Amino acid sequence: METEHDVLVVGAGCAGMRAAIEAHDAGADVALLSKIHPVRSHSGAAEGGINAALGNASEDDPEKHAFDTVKGSDYLGDQDAIQILCDEAPGDVYELEHWGAVFSRTEDGRIAQRPFGAAGEPRTAYAADITGHVLVHVLYEQVMKREIPAYEEWFAWKLVEDDGRCQGVIAWDIVNGGLKTIGAKTVILATGGAGRLYTGTTNAYSCTGDGMAMALRMGVPLKDMEMMQFHPTTLSPTGVLITEGCRGEGAYLLNSEGERFLKDYAPNAMELASRDVISRAEQTEIDEGRGVDGNVLLDLRHLGAEKILERLHGTRELSMVFAGVDPIHDPIPVRPGAHYHMGGVETDLWGKTTLEGLYAAGECACVSVHGANRLGGNALMETITFGKRAGAAAAEWALTHTTVAVPESVVSETERELEELLGRDDGERPHAIRDEMAETMHVNFGVFRREDQMREQGEIIERLRERYERVVVEDKGSLFNNDVTQALELGFLLELAACMIEAGLARKESRGAHARPHDFPDRDDGNYMRHTLVHWQDGTPVLDWEPVRTTKWQPQERTY
Ligand SMILES: Cc1cc2nc3c(=O)[nH]c(=O)nc-3n(C[C@H](O)[C@H](O)[C@H](O)COP(=O)(O)OP(=O)(O)OC[C@H]3O[C@@H](n4cnc5c(N)ncnc54)[C@H](O)[C@@H]3O)c2cc1C
Repeated sequence: METEHDVLVVGAGCAGMRAAIEAHDAGADVALLSKIHPVRSHSGAAEGGINAALGNASEDDPEKHAFDTVKGSDYLGDQDAIQILCDEAPGDVYELEHWGAVFSRTEDGRIAQRPFGAAGEPRTAYAADITGHVLVHVLYEQVMKREIPAYEEWFAWKLVEDDGRCQGVIAWDIVNGGLKTIGAKTVILATGGAGRLYTGTTNAYSCTGDGMAMALRMGVPLKDMEMMQFHPTTLSPTGVLITEGCRGEGAYLLNSEGERFLKDYAPNAMELASRDVISRAEQTEIDEGRGVDGNVLLDLRHLGAEKILERLHGTRELSMVFAGVDPIHDPIPVRPGAHYHMGGVETDLWGKTTLEGLYAAGECACVSVHGANRLGGNALMETITFGKRAGAAAAEWALTHTTVAVPESVVSETERELEELLGRDDGERPHAIRDEMAETMHVNFGVFRREDQMREQGEIIERLRERYERVVVEDKGSLFNNDVTQALELGFLLELAACMIEAGLARKESRGAHARPHDFPDRDDGNYMRHTLVHWQDGTPVLDWEPVRTTKWQPQERTY
């Protein structure tokens, strides 16, 4: 064992850093481990903002926030978790402000709040359109101030279990090469999402679902894995995100006939309906021939140059650089793209998983506050509120238990596995398998889902997993060997894809992001007010169910 800590946080985005800060302040010896530099985590790409019922732009309260979130989740969110998120959000946002987060302001100097999709009130606090960038820097300052050590550019590959407890992590040291073992009384997974399962995703290259897959391999169930959110405005053709803040500021969505087509789908909320509703509307327009080269158009022109330059500066730059379009003068071509995983490692309200000593928070976890559809602005809030809670709980456990043991056999087994991977010369490099996975997931497990396509995708993934068995890592060196980490990431992604399909086939209804217009067009509360749980057994996914935790909101029809 190279080193040992009370709490080891794997992942240094908003969730990981917030967890580490809390664990440190609770008195634990804590360290962060991240495959990329903390401030380059995908959290830094968040644009539009973070939701808290501060009531600065209207009469708002946590209760309204909770109801919007429950309804937005299509009644699959766990209501006790949602209540915690919404109650704790205002305090958690003010704490970020006091740490130095430069939120945009109202005229009288309070934190400004913009309207976001499916929110009854303007509730999204923001720092122009670089909110995530601001938050990761503020959190990183707090991490540095506390001198919390960070294993930067270490790639976590395996969790260590001994005596029924998670007791550490085995990682590949990207900078120097070699496997390193870190013992820990508790481990918090904060490894983010898995958008790289799809082509045309808003997610960074690092979003490969590593933590979910690591937990899965330890027998921990993944919850609601069929629920992948498609964001309605991703820039064509790259998939770069165009923030919902544009529609919050008043942008229109137009079809090829220049019509605001949402009048036919969400006549009241229009462009501010929830993401699943708008993605389906766009896809329908495109499929029925009213698209523009496979896209629809996001029109900001009527907002005027001044507002665009002040509030949506980054969006304008992204559009100009990646699509050659200046939104002051022309509409932006957009389409739905894979954006956010509502599913993830099942946890309780304190981030605890079913494996003693293992916690999860942020996008890799499923507590579940987003259910079948996440509201824009709620993901950043979840990373903070539940990151903090996981940090507190993991520290408390660590401080009341003493021993850490990493069995030699686990380390030698991992070394043997790595030797085998690097020793293989005959086979296929990972990229072709990765591209085929991402392209077929997009076609067969996208905005709309059909039984036959999901089955076909299951077979495709099985074949890709067989090919993966013979994958070759060409770079055998130790310094910055991204070849080896990319191969490991692909292994993680393929297992997650298998879990998603298993869960998707089992959910014979349409709810939130899981839309089956051809065979099960309606939500079926009688049979499916429950979460899918997928375990990993002998190399295959095994399905189970768990009821939704409801408190005071009974399911209603969901219209916008
Ligand atoms: C473009 C974009 C814009 C968004 N905008 C918003 C928004 O405006 N509002 C909102 O609420 N949400 C938004 N979201 C969603 C939200 O930003 C994310 O869900 C959230 O930031 C995820 O934070 P996280 O801490 O869980 O993970 P991440 O920030 O993704 O961090 C993951 C961390 O895990 C580490 N890691 C992963 N695997 C390993 C491994 N094997 N070994 C070691 N380290 C590992 C990475 O290095 C990284 O540090 C947006 C998402 C995207 C993609």
